Amino acid sequence: MSDDLPTPARALAVGAHPDDVEFGCGGTLAKWAAAGCEIAHLVCTDGSKGSWDPADDPATLVASRQVEQRAASVALGGSGDVVFLGWRDGELESGLRQRADVCFWIRKLRPDVVLGHDPWKRYRLHPDHRHAGQLLVEGVVAARDPHFFPEQSVAPHRPSAMLLWEADEPDHVEDIGTSLDAKLAALLAHRSQYRSTMDIDDPGDADQVERFRTKIRDRAADAGRDAGVAYAEVFKLVTKL
Ligand SMILES: [Zn+2]
Repeated sequence: MSDDLPTPARALAVGAHPDDVEFGCGGTLAKWAAAGCEIAHLVCTDGSKGSWDPADDPATLVASRQVEQRAASVALGGSGDVVFLGWRDGELESGLRQRADVCFWIRKLRPDVVLGHDPWKRYRLHPDHRHAGQLLVEGVVAARDPHFFPEQSVAPHRPSAMLLWEADEPDHVEDIGTSLDAKLAALLAHRSQYRSTMDIDDPGDADQVERFRTKIRDRAADAGRDAGVAYAEVFKLVTKL
């Protein structure tokens, strides 16, 4: 296991849905932001299926998830600037149009480190997570080469490292001892997801909120154990970009 990359000047995290970035690498982003890194979010889908309530209006949900995602970015120490690609939730594809989108934003934002879903995670069920991971990998390949999408009005860019969360073969850990609280605050900014992903039926019930915080804390403690730190996030690190 390698550990703790040098703090990048700029980092871009690519998630399928609002909240994926916070679950996957929120602690790492918050740690870097506190050390002066510019962090950016790119959310591939509109999040319109992120509710178990059939009566929920998808357009209202999309709008509130954007507000929540910006608040989460701020909680991590970011500027709140978030790119929403707006592909329909549950129907994300890793086609050329989507790849051009991701390529464009890598070229425009010029991150040193990119972070995203591991597209090769075995037995992953959610197609959006697999496609979002694929888009990051293929977007990086396209972004570095001037012959890919030459019509784009931005110069090619090659990040120096890629970190994949929920990795099939994790080999890198980031110590998040100083930033776990920021990760928790950012996750809890996603209020529309309390019921469906955080098992919080009543946001006013402090015990339910604390149960979620404990779950995330325990997960980070498990990840940190092998590395000898209190709390960590684990990744597959790819540096041959
Ligand atoms: Zn997701």
